[in-house]
Amino acid sequence: MGIYVENLVCTQCNKKFSLNEKIWKCACGGLLDIDFTSTFPVDTIKGRERTMWRYREAIPLRDDKNIISFDEGFTPLTDVAFHGKSVLIKQDHLFPTGSYKDRGASVLVSKVRELGVRKVVEDSSGNAGCAIAAYCAKARIDCEIYVPENTSPGKLAQIRFSGATLNKIPGSREDTAHAVLKAAEEYYYASHSWNPFFFHGTKTFAFEVCEQLGWKSPDTVILPVGNGTLLLGAYIGFHELLGAKTIDNIPRIIAIQSANCAPLYRAFKEDLEEIPEIEKKDVLAEGIAIAKPIRWRQIIEAVKESNGDFITVDDWEIKESLRDMCRKGFYIEPTAASTTAGISKYVRRSHPNETIVSLFTGHGLKTTEKMVKLLNE
Ligand SMILES: *Cc1c(COP(=O)(O)O)cnc(C)c1O
Ligand SMILES: [Zn+2]
Repeated sequence: MGIYVENLVCTQCNKKFSLNEKIWKCACGGLLDIDFTSTFPVDTIKGRERTMWRYREAIPLRDDKNIISFDEGFTPLTDVAFHGKSVLIKQDHLFPTGSYKDRGASVLVSKVRELGVRKVVEDSSGNAGCAIAAYCAKARIDCEIYVPENTSPGKLAQIRFSGATLNKIPGSREDTAHAVLKAAEEYYYASHSWNPFFFHGTKTFAFEVCEQLGWKSPDTVILPVGNGTLLLGAYIGFHELLGAKTIDNIPRIIAIQSANCAPLYRAFKEDLEEIPEIEKKDVLAEGIAIAKPIRWRQIIEAVKESNGDFITVDDWEIKESLRDMCRKGFYIEPTAASTTAGISKYVRRSHPNETIVSLFTGHGLKTTEKMVKLLNE
């Protein structure tokens, strides 16, 4: 048997902290990761409830009594044809708040309760805020969400109906991030990009995919990337399964960015040492329009190590894919259609027998105003 570890560890200075410290970054300013040994008792798992918490031994929470859950997860893995090629799609738009962010929120808010924190702050372009607000409502933890002024009204309503305090910040997504960092000096930052517990929720995507394939990994996963909450989570998840010898290889990661906001694509393709300054444009895929993703090095490293690639999609390709998915009966939001547009591009060069897995990230009902506008174009 291996040695079981359980630590927060700084990605910059390597300092270790207990998982029960109320911190979200290192004193040196570095990002924190979680060093944690996951195990997968597959025979026991088989008999458990069909939720993401069936992988209990792989989730870094001490006490079951702190679990905040709506019995979410274990979403359907559905065969969808793209240009005649079969792609397996996790229907993660069917989560309680309408996006896969619930995976991260469930684990993070459970940990927040375990830490005895009474109030959190978070910033979001929408869906992460909706998820954190709903789980905090269930946990009876005070929650304040910072959003850019131009966030979809449906998402704002969802956040407010959960009882969270909403702060609309003028300017860019980066201005919002700046505002919340000030608030985070006083309150615990339940951030989906900084806080490592969020990623130890999104990693359950990888666990479910492999279990649904009979404890095998797919050849390829196609994932959207802005801040990388899903991409890095999936990467962690596949690595933990590999480390436990539950699967025997890591899938290739194909990362999708919106052509109007693609700093990671550029850094990857041009082998840059720093994340490039990019020109701000209007972005249809609001959920992945991140100019400066703080975990950018980790994201590029993960894609490289998996022998993967980056693909960008234009707004017209996103619209076309959105219409195509909706006509197939899957009502998804425009940001989710950036991933499906990327799938359409990728399958043109995939192998005939390649197992390709992707997902619907968010529900169309979240962005009704945008959908109505597209209908009238
Ligand atoms: C959060 C989100 C993504 C992925 O964005 P990241 O910034 O990489 O975490 C994709 N689609 C939707 C609908 C989202 O809410
Ligand atoms: Zn440090």
